[in-house]
Amino acid sequence: MELIHEGKAKRVFADPDSNNRVIIEFSDSVTAGDGAKKDAFPDKGSIACDISELLFSYLEGKGIDTHYIKRLKGPQLLCKKVTIFPVEVVCRNIAAGSFSKRYGVEKGIKFEKPLVEFFVKDDSLHDPLITMGALTRIGLVSRDVLQFLTRVTLSVNYYLSELLKQQGLTLIDFKLEFGMTEDNTIVLADEISPDTMRIWDNKSTSLDKDVFREGKGDLISVYKKLLDTLRASKPEDVEIVKEVVQVIVEPKSGIKNPPGEVTKKALMRLGFAEVDDVRVGKVFNIILKKPITTEILNHLNIMNVKLLSNPISEKHKVRLE
Ligand code: UDP
Repeated sequence: MELIHEGKAKRVFADPDSNNRVIIEFSDSVTAGDGAKKDAFPDKGSIACDISELLFSYLEGKGIDTHYIKRLKGPQLLCKKVTIFPVEVVCRNIAAGSFSKRYGVEKGIKFEKPLVEFFVKDDSLHDPLITMGALTRIGLVSRDVLQFLTRVTLSVNYYLSELLKQQGLTLIDFKLEFGMTEDNTIVLADEISPDTMRIWDNKSTSLDKDVFREGKGDLISVYKKLLDTLRASKPEDVEIVKEVVQVIVEPKSGIKNPPGEVTKKALMRLGFAEVDDVRVGKVFNIILKKPITTEILNHLNIMNVKLLSNPISEKHKVRLE
């Protein structure tokens, strides 16, 4: 098989039977601290592969697009071939790891709302944290795509957190990677395993790579325990949550906007002399039955053109933030 890419814990091969599929093989190596700490544990690749398979299938079942197609023999997954976005998306529910270190925040502090952060995927730069503004200025990923990745990451956070909660476990943080398939669909890619997540039990004991990072236990037995726990969970009991997407419709500039003129006059009469102009548009809160996908975004654009806006006099945009 032709090797396309070799990472720290996985190898990607071309699928000899199809140009738009790849075979991802999980290895037994583990690295931490930007590659400073390295080791290998027999069976680790196969357990990480089992967990990734289970979680990708679970998320697909909840309506999230992933690259996963099927399990192959050994620690291998057959996946859709994608172009990976050069950004790692990290979601945090509780302070730990680099967040605690960066801001001097005590590990274990729970956030009021999950936090999504971006890191540039570039080993030579040591994967630095980056703002959405900088990412779009550099031209690495567009704002629309980043907003979409953020929404999907928050959905993944909900579904993973709920599944783990069933078993008395807490999802602390995780890292996701996304890619674009050959038919222009954005999908969750890479892996979802204890190598890329932090999970604590009810005594704040880690069931993830922190065992290796901090040298505090036997990695294989911890990974196996997590796999067994996930196998005992009931994905069908995790409720699908509705999602809201906003469609904003605005009058195009230069087009007369009578409701805006009426509002402006009324504001002037009330004494708001600083108002120069008012343009009145519309906001539609579209409530979806399932997580946002590329197909749903495409549908929203068609809905806009067909019904929600008048393409001659109005401009429309889908707001995901
Ligand atoms: N993570 C990852 N790969 C990376 C960096 C982070 O999978 O290259 C995961 C990590 O396992 C944790 C989350 O992303 O679950 C947040 O990691 P953090 O930024 O705290 O960095 P760390 O201290 O783990 O290096």
